[in-house]
Amino acid sequence: MAKVESFELDHTIVKAPYVRLAGTERNEKGSAIQKYDLRLLQPNEDALPTAAVHTLEHLLATYLRDELNGIIDISPMGCRTGFYMIIWDEHDPKDVAAALTKVLHKVVETDFVPAVSALECGNYKDHSLFSAQEYAKIVLRAGIGDDPFRT
Ligand SMILES: [Zn+2]
Repeated sequence: MAKVESFELDHTIVKAPYVRLAGTERNEKGSAIQKYDLRLLQPNEDALPTAAVHTLEHLLATYLRDELNGIIDISPMGCRTGFYMIIWDEHDPKDVAAALTKVLHKVVETDFVPAVSALECGNYKDHSLFSAQEYAKIVLRAGIGDDPFRT
């Protein structure tokens, strides 16, 4: 069976919320791509409701791209405790944590969610800005660290 990096992570010892560099891949031309684990909630203790994770997906897609150059993709984790981000080049997890913190403050302050029509979204009826903002506040109160194994 193929090895999957995130399956090797001990989810019982991490301390969310955190930003974790899950890996850096480099091709033969020297181009680098990084994968980040943006963990908002403590695994196996809480999970984002689908409407909240969906609205956060729409907001992070735009706001995080405003903060970080080279983002390829930001996708929700199936466990609904956070997101994965794929990005060109090498970044410092501290900078990613700072960008995510800034973006969650923008989430709390916005009254607009982009692309929430049947034309633009695959499940436009399943959004909750209220829930996204309440969870953003919970994450901001806890503080986003750059060390998932901090004690
Ligand atoms: Zn959508």
